[in-house]
Amino acid sequence: MERSSEILKENYIRPTRLRVQVLNILISSEQSFSSTEMRHYFEEVQDRVTIYRILNLLYEAGILERTVDTDGAIRYFYCAKNTTLSPSFRCLSCGMIAQLSPLPDFYQYELGKYQVDRAVLLFSGICEDCKNKELT
Ligand SMILES: [Zn+2]
Repeated sequence: MERSSEILKENYIRPTRLRVQVLNILISSEQSFSSTEMRHYFEEVQDRVTIYRILNLLYEAGILERTVDTDGAIRYFYCAKNTTLSPSFRCLSCGMIAQLSPLPDFYQYELGKYQVDRAVLLFSGICEDCKNKELT
């Protein structure tokens, strides 16, 4: 995927094959991954530390967000940069991540008084698809 390698270059990260693959997976799957979960995506066995280093590098560069999930695992996900602050929702059953509506203007105004370096606003639960599957 062209885009992943562009994103890496824009952030002054050399787009190695593995880095591009990791970012591709995060962008195309729209899911969040811990380093262990990400490793399962590769057919050739990759060292867990290698995967962890890549995820952490992309996080440090501001390309990925990360969150400590409700099960205690640190999960990384791709979130296109936008100027508005909006929470995300993660499905605990299928792992999908959805971007929710941005916070209201008065909230952004209030936050404008501070220098916010990072904000991870994450709700977790069961998505609509999984909820419907449960019912049928
Ligand atoms: Zn789901």
